[in-house]
Amino acid sequence: MTLDIYLSPTLLAMIGLLLGAIIGSFLNVVVYRLPLIMRSAWSNEAKLFLGMAPDKADNLSLSTPRSHCPDCGTQLKAIHNIPVLSYCFLRGRCSHCSSLISIQYPLIELLSAFLTAYILISYGLSDKGLFCLIFTYSLIALAAIDMREQILPDQITLPLLWLGLILSFFGQWTAPSDAIIGAALGYLSLWSVMQLFKLITGKEGMGYGDFKLNAAIGAWLGWQMVPIVILLSSFLGAIIGLFAIIFLGHDRRSPFAFGPYLCLAGWVAMQWGDQLSYLFNYLSL
Ligand SMILES: [Zn+2]
Repeated sequence: MTLDIYLSPTLLAMIGLLLGAIIGSFLNVVVYRLPLIMRSAWSNEAKLFLGMAPDKADNLSLSTPRSHCPDCGTQLKAIHNIPVLSYCFLRGRCSHCSSLISIQYPLIELLSAFLTAYILISYGLSDKGLFCLIFTYSLIALAAIDMREQILPDQITLPLLWLGLILSFFGQWTAPSDAIIGAALGYLSLWSVMQLFKLITGKEGMGYGDFKLNAAIGAWLGWQMVPIVILLSSFLGAIIGLFAIIFLGHDRRSPFAFGPYLCLAGWVAMQWGDQLSYLFNYLSL
């Protein structure tokens, strides 16, 4: 598996920004629709189990129906679907009913655009760059869905886990044995923390989605990165959580999504894992 085409960094940055913004626009659809599709499927499964008639099919999928305003239902025109720019032209409001459009849409498009440009410049047009993009887009979608809905869909975490294990056979980030141990350690480490927490407090502090996401990160980066990802995500979670409680008035008891911090720590570990492990070793001496 080798693919290596040389392009200048400026050209790569431009391709990255454009491609990343378009993919960011698709990620917004995934973030908005995947939880709706999942809830509808769960509701129907529960109704079938209870012997009730299932809901009428709403035919919602990632590709149909076309994007529309969630408030007035007006279908978006092509001109309203341009990543980032449409939000600016419309000044963050629906062209029909003037209801506010979530800032999440341009933020995800911008994040995806800048990370794609960064990855293309760092890795060039290579197979490693392509896999790094897949990892990045999956983490963006997972973090945003967890922030909105407090769920981490199996539809994303499990394929990410299997892909990480398969890639280890090609030595992209780690060796197969390190990836397998990484997946197990990633899952079991957070699972043990949750069991201990439950034993002490009687409450479940974390969801199984967090364990699967951590397993996927362990499969991609190897077991050596698992402690670093857990330390970094807990540190970021504590800092940002405290900030939200003190300055934004968030309720201490309200549900707290850990997935976004795992995503951030996993991404940082993929880019600067070696430097981080050097830093942690240095600090622990
Ligand atoms: Zn509207």
